[in-house]
Amino acid sequence: MALAAGPETQTGRMVIRNIGLLLSGMLEHPILDADTVVAEAGRITAIGREADCDTAGATVTIDANGVCLAPGLIDSHVHPVFGDWTPRQGQLGWIESSLHGGVTTMISAGEVHLPGRPRDIVGLKALAITAQRAFSNFRSAGVKIHGGAPVLEQGMVESDFLDLAAAGVTLLGEVGLGSVKAGYQAKEMVAWARKAGIQSTIHTGGPSVPGSGYIDADTVLEADADIIGHINGGHTALPLRQIRCLCEGCGRGIEIVHNGNELAGLSAFRYARELNQMHRVILGTDSPAGSGVQPLGILRMIALLSSIGEAPAELVFACATGNTARMRGLDGGLIEPGRAADVVFMDRAQHSSGTDLLDSVRRGDLPGIGMVVIDGIVRCGRSRNTPPAERVPEILA
Ligand SMILES: [Zn+2]
Repeated sequence: MALAAGPETQTGRMVIRNIGLLLSGMLEHPILDADTVVAEAGRITAIGREADCDTAGATVTIDANGVCLAPGLIDSHVHPVFGDWTPRQGQLGWIESSLHGGVTTMISAGEVHLPGRPRDIVGLKALAITAQRAFSNFRSAGVKIHGGAPVLEQGMVESDFLDLAAAGVTLLGEVGLGSVKAGYQAKEMVAWARKAGIQSTIHTGGPSVPGSGYIDADTVLEADADIIGHINGGHTALPLRQIRCLCEGCGRGIEIVHNGNELAGLSAFRYARELNQMHRVILGTDSPAGSGVQPLGILRMIALLSSIGEAPAELVFACATGNTARMRGLDGGLIEPGRAADVVFMDRAQHSSGTDLLDSVRRGDLPGIGMVVIDGIVRCGRSRNTPPAERVPEILA
């Protein structure tokens, strides 16, 4: 199958029929009673039973063959540099490989791995603007990268944030990776960013690499960034009582990452459930990093939190899709009219002990991916990375 790359969108009508299980990405209503999804010009226009949907005039018809359809997964925490290259582990093609793990959108937490990354203010602003432009213009395998996330350095003033926002920058890199580490300094800059319409994430826990800092719960609460970045550490986690304080002490996003402390991640997830705060839980990989790149990292997080975290799989899928989309104002992540047609087809992996897809994830197995669609365009068929799905969808002529 030819792979479509770049920002192009389906211009015609896509009909997906014979869906066996439709996950919405919504915690409050995670499974939809429907077997058909219609998209026009890359956006979902109808969801329902096939007999009730207008399926005429399709440019592309996909027979889901009874498998599960879910919103494309969102990796809330990546560290891209340029193109589909990471110098962190000297790899090419890591973004395209993640598409084969069901990821259709990634959010940059800072282009921190750029060799010789500028730390002067004009240089860091120029890098952020360049990265934002570059990732808007180029999508490896169609994956949407929200890039251009400047790392805060001392000496930045309010007008710097206005300049960045005016130039199209919408995100801050992890607060704490640069020279701004004190709570009172971070708080002032995060507030300037918020006023300018720029969303913020703070590094939480011990230093990730030599040169980065230790950020404790008091600093995270004082800085008041929109997202508690890797609440389970990246990799070194805060003591569990501090993680509990973060869940109880604010209403900000609780981001749990693959390249963090797994016990701390499971604990944060349990605290959030106990506190009835599941809507704040979002998932990331924090890759590329010292722990490498994980093309199946979001699926692995879903399986971990569902199995050992003892949560219904459909709710954990919502954490990796709709929760992130809502918190970050993205156009995909939910199966509802008007949203981008970014979807992933999955089925139980061959020889899983689970009785169906959701049960297999609940037992800790990864699903098999059979197809990924972004903006209504088929970007890959049977995944080369997941264990093979029992059934895969088929494009009808
Ligand atoms: Zn970090």
